[in-house]
Amino acid sequence: MKIRTTGLQLGHNEIDEFVEPLTVGLDTKTFQSPISVHVNAEKGTGKIALEIVTIGPGSFFCDRCGEDFKREAHGSCEIVFVQRDAPFPDEEPGDDLRSFGPFQEYIDVSTEVRDTLHLSIPMKNLCTEDCQGLCPNCGGNLNKSACRCSK
Ligand SMILES: [Zn+2]
Ligand SMILES: [Zn+2]
Repeated sequence: MKIRTTGLQLGHNEIDEFVEPLTVGLDTKTFQSPISVHVNAEKGTGKIALEIVTIGPGSFFCDRCGEDFKREAHGSCEIVFVQRDAPFPDEEPGDDLRSFGPFQEYIDVSTEVRDTLHLSIPMKNLCTEDCQGLCPNCGGNLNKSACRCSK
């Protein structure tokens, strides 16, 4: 996703866009529909501060019962772009502080959009907080019905 620096006014700007998961490098098995991206951009002299808020409808597997479930992943991040003649040493997409050249028309925030969603996925994905999981005896899904073993 690219933001046109010359299209921003001094002061506050808001940008709303839907981006295709593939174009920002998201896994399209998990993220099958467009990602909603809201950007608050504060443009100053030689500086653009961005707050990026993302909502991505995702499909996940529950780590406890193995069922598919859908959940909206919500993420956000803040980045500051500073106008410079040369990039910062070791600067990479995803850094909190980045640079843009004096004649650079677009800044690319694809990495940031992707990372906000990746970071929002918990280490353990559960379909519900109190997922009952599978019966260790018969493998039945205890969310659906109590199996015979428990009787
Ligand atoms: Zn589950
Ligand atoms: Zn059982």
